[in-house]
Amino acid sequence: MALQIFNSLSQRLEVLEPIEPGQVRFYTCGPTVYNFAHIGNFRAYIFEDLLRRVLKYCGFKVIQVMNLTDVDDKTIRGAIAQGVDLTAFTQTFKNAFFADLKTLRIEPAEFYPAATDHIPEMITLVETLLAKGHAYRADDGSVYFRIASFPNYGRLARLDREGLRPGARVAQDEYAKDDAADFALWKAWDAADGNVRWESPWGPGRPGWHLECSAMSMKYLGPTFDLHTGGIDNLFPHHEDEIAQSEAANGQQFVKYWMHCAHLVVDGRKMSKSLGNFYTLRDLVEKGYTGREIRYLLASANYRQSLNFTFDALQAARSSLARADEFTERLATQAGAIPPGQPAPLPGWATEAGAAFRAAVENDLNMAEALAALFRIIHDGNRALDHKELSPAQAVAVQGVLADIDGVLALLQTDEVRPDAAVQALMEQRQTARKTKQWAESDRIRDELDRLGWVIQDTPAGPKLKRRPG
Ligand code: AMP
Ligand code: ZN
Repeated sequence: MALQIFNSLSQRLEVLEPIEPGQVRFYTCGPTVYNFAHIGNFRAYIFEDLLRRVLKYCGFKVIQVMNLTDVDDKTIRGAIAQGVDLTAFTQTFKNAFFADLKTLRIEPAEFYPAATDHIPEMITLVETLLAKGHAYRADDGSVYFRIASFPNYGRLARLDREGLRPGARVAQDEYAKDDAADFALWKAWDAADGNVRWESPWGPGRPGWHLECSAMSMKYLGPTFDLHTGGIDNLFPHHEDEIAQSEAANGQQFVKYWMHCAHLVVDGRKMSKSLGNFYTLRDLVEKGYTGREIRYLLASANYRQSLNFTFDALQAARSSLARADEFTERLATQAGAIPPGQPAPLPGWATEAGAAFRAAVENDLNMAEALAALFRIIHDGNRALDHKELSPAQAVAVQGVLADIDGVLALLQTDEVRPDAAVQALMEQRQTARKTKQWAESDRIRDELDRLGWVIQDTPAGPKLKRRPG
């Protein structure tokens, strides 16, 4: 079997065949660090994390670059509004972003280039485009890309070229398809930019957002690389403009495969800062949800389908994980019952579900089916344990399958917080109280543990301490 992905460029499912066999070089548009990322943004980053993990699961080496947009219209506006330096302003949100990635168990990319560290590369790219006649300087010192000079302009977004208005210009980073026009590569400084500016052959100014991604992706991955991803809102104009700049400069294909994830929506509308219908990861963590639960929710839908955010869905994610945790604990108890001698063959149901999981992720990351395969293992495994049909050695083998699956999902390991010595001591006191039938004392200790955030579960293998949810 081979990994199939939906290429937004061809609008077809294609077998992923990297340029260099065995290695996938990919670029993911990262956050604009002007605020805390919301969980709509994290839907995109989780999709990319699943993609990265699936690539590795399929045996590819991965080189992933995720940029940090730390200069653009929004970051400049934010820094000025707060009266702080752009660097100080964006640093807060860069730090927050990396902390959030950890909370969501997103595996680090190989490179996180920041736009402000790559201004010379961006200037060089603009110079090349000017030299080749794909760009021109406007009266105010800004430099624009001439879309009429690039016959493939609009191919990714399937724009009607007849509708393009030669010579029209757009200075903002974000605009709609109807406003497709020559876009800014370099923006001349104006008073609204405060003290944010870099010297260039065209006078002081700053790069356009689209140019940033072209320069940084090509620096780390070369002029042609395998895969480029983002949320569907990045497809136009951002990715269309990246293609135009990069291919016009190099005369060769920029990216072989493009992948875009659909939006996280609230009541049918894209979750976004501008609509105000958003939750940051931090908002949800404050409400008592764990990163793992939020990851489950965002990972559970197929990436090309929009996903409606509701608290009921988060609650359902919590229940699904509780079910998975209960099984992995049962399995661990059985696996540890007697140390297995010879490794045992996998039970047939586990082999089948493991294969179904692989087939699902190789089919354009079909997460709905992948999770169904996981829950088949849980269902059949629980039944086998109920009927005492799973030997300790087989339990170890099933654990191996789950570990493989979790290399992709990163959902099965619990966020284990170990009880400290005081909590352990209380637990032992409770055991003694129970043995001597001091029930009131035993209950008192249980309540005290509850106040400290711990619940006791009496299991056949003895009492266990668990973090109280919420
Ligand atoms: P930004 O910080 O606005 O550049 O967005 C960062 C990433 O989040 C981009 O890949 C966007 O496409 C993506 N994104 C923004 N809003 C949503 C949403 N509601 N659902 C899914 N992805 C989103
Ligand atoms: Zn980008």
